[in-house]
Amino acid sequence: MSIQIHGIVQGVGFRPFVHRLVSEFGLTGTIRNTSSGVALELEGERATLEAFVRSLPERAPQLAQIDRLETAYSLALAGYTDFRILPSLREEKRNTLVSPDIGICPDCLRELHDPRDRRYRYPFINCTNCGPRFTIIRDLPYDRPLTSMARFPMCPDCEREYHDITNRRYHAQPDCCPACGPQLFFCDAEGRRISGDAIALAREMICAGGIVAIKGLGGMHLACRADDAAVAARLRRRKERDEKPFALMCRDVEAARRLCHVSRAEEALLTSVHRPIVLLRKREDGLRHLSENRSLGVMLPYTPLHVLLLDEEPDTVVLTSANLSDTPILYQNEEALEKLRGIADGFLLHDRDIQTRCDDSLFMVLDGQDYPLRRSRGYVPYPLRVPGSRGGILACGAEQKASFCLSRGDSVFPSQHIGDLKNYETLAHYEQQIRRFERLFDQKPALLVCDLHPDYLSTAYAQERAAAEGLPLIQVQHHHAHMAACMADNGLTEDCIGLIWDGTGYGSDGTIWGGECLIGGYRDVRRFASLRPIPLIGGDRAVKELDRVAFALLREADCPTAEIPDAPRYETLLTAGLNCPMSSGMGRLFDGVAALLGVKTLASYEGQGAVLLEAAADEEETGRWPLAFEEGELLRCDWRGMIRALVAERDAGTDAAVLAARFLNTLLDLAVEVCRRAAEASGLRDVVLSGGSFQNRYLMERLPGMLCAAGLRPHVHRRVSCNDEGLSLGQLMIAEERRK
Ligand code: ZN
Ligand code: ZN
Ligand code: FE
Repeated sequence: MSIQIHGIVQGVGFRPFVHRLVSEFGLTGTIRNTSSGVALELEGERATLEAFVRSLPERAPQLAQIDRLETAYSLALAGYTDFRILPSLREEKRNTLVSPDIGICPDCLRELHDPRDRRYRYPFINCTNCGPRFTIIRDLPYDRPLTSMARFPMCPDCEREYHDITNRRYHAQPDCCPACGPQLFFCDAEGRRISGDAIALAREMICAGGIVAIKGLGGMHLACRADDAAVAARLRRRKERDEKPFALMCRDVEAARRLCHVSRAEEALLTSVHRPIVLLRKREDGLRHLSENRSLGVMLPYTPLHVLLLDEEPDTVVLTSANLSDTPILYQNEEALEKLRGIADGFLLHDRDIQTRCDDSLFMVLDGQDYPLRRSRGYVPYPLRVPGSRGGILACGAEQKASFCLSRGDSVFPSQHIGDLKNYETLAHYEQQIRRFERLFDQKPALLVCDLHPDYLSTAYAQERAAAEGLPLIQVQHHHAHMAACMADNGLTEDCIGLIWDGTGYGSDGTIWGGECLIGGYRDVRRFASLRPIPLIGGDRAVKELDRVAFALLREADCPTAEIPDAPRYETLLTAGLNCPMSSGMGRLFDGVAALLGVKTLASYEGQGAVLLEAAADEEETGRWPLAFEEGELLRCDWRGMIRALVAERDAGTDAAVLAARFLNTLLDLAVEVCRRAAEASGLRDVVLSGGSFQNRYLMERLPGMLCAAGLRPHVHRRVSCNDEGLSLGQLMIAEERRK
């Protein structure tokens, strides 16, 4: 019989797995890699062959992904006497896939701790089932000479394993051992190498309250004790890091459990091969030096180096990306030694180069399901299969949380986390990664798509490139792209309702949007409802100085404004209408309310107002304020009555925690009511939820259930982020539809 297997079945230990399975079933035949997967020719009893076919998907290696299995039985026999691996058919580069970096597997972990194993305590142990991939690849085909391992020739022992089909390290390109592979070393603050056990030196420094730079898979981290507020404060000061939470690395789930609640689904995600950072709920409302909200970002060790570091006390460290205020994560030794001078007290480095940066991924678990906030290390560059995609499109994303997507057939390759393009190094990284993806996946775009915003640097990139290469360019409205991203994420192809809440996006009327309800599909949408616009006094300054928004809310709602320190100045600016763009951004409403409740008046990062309101909200509180709408061609959600109620109750002495919850409850009601009306107007029932505001756990733990109760079918993101990072997928789908 012949079997064609399509999907991710190369470079994941699939042929050795088939070899074992074939021997187990006593079959004979051949296997070879083809351009889209593997092809098998097998001979044996019909019943045995059928049992074999059933076992294939059930027992396939963890990293394999079988998309399709074609079988054909025939009576003609070639008379195979054994099982053989045939040389690959000339592999067509355009169909090959690159694996993401994979967290250390249980077998390697066992060998790492086995004193009799030749890789005992070797920080670079890996095998076909785990280890670095994307971050060490220079070019395709994925063979050792084209990776960072090129400079480490295999020793005879490793070579033997590499060629032995029965071995777990058969064709594992990064295979190595202490005799032939990369080596770890430790440097002091001045970059001088210190002799001794590098891991022990790093651990001692961390225990003593020092800050150590550690070279990981996709870049450098800074590590320090997690239990000492003074040390964390020093790290923030040196790194000039705002108030954003720090991520932690815990030795194991037990260590994580001492600090946070860990559900079964969260445990599964923490220990998965992807090993993302998972936002977990703190046990108590403590550890504010690590995170000012209710959750902590926790990850488990994903390289043998991290495992060894946390083998002894401490069992938990702060592990934050080593970068300087908004520049990309550092990834080269020399660069780290130079740029982290004065920040790191020591450096735990090694001589295996990182070819490309890849930040840690970030998830939370909602209702037992993974909810991505940042899709990066461990996931990229695996493609998403998207029905309707035909390839050849480059979608250029947004700006602050930049990402791009490149399509090849029905495969869409989303980039790793890139960052804010306003930073020069980040922009260079963005352009470099676009070229890299085009080379790795052998796909030159025939069509470009970008945001409608004239000032986004991703728009400028797309326009310049379209002009230079004579390519067509499509510009897509920001919230339409968010909506299409969530549709594609859920495999929706028919028209639906999109509830899109975020901070800022350029509207098709030239104003700023961000609290939108759209109706339509990939091709077109109509704007059904929107938040009543808020004047942003001083434009972008209002995104940081939340008092400016609070003032605007009070004044629009006819409340006294004397509580705002700079009220007279804001009044003058607003009356003159100088640099006061109108915004229907939901993020701004969050910011303004955070300021009115005294939760935050000066934001150190975008979205902080919303984060702190979520942290402040009393979860037992069920009170809410009535909704108001201005009917018209566009349904306007009027927040003025809510602001008046909030101010009155606050001034009467109601606790901020109660008011924060009432505000969030009112937004939930608003969301349901707007969607209900949209359903009534359109006859549609599917609702996609997208935009950065849906990173809010309070909203996300409640809204889908409320929408279901209202007879609607909610869909949330599952594969890409709801924030601007996920936008490029939506742009791509809209461009695909419009080019028809
Ligand atoms: Zn392994
Ligand atoms: Zn070796
Ligand atoms: Fe957005």
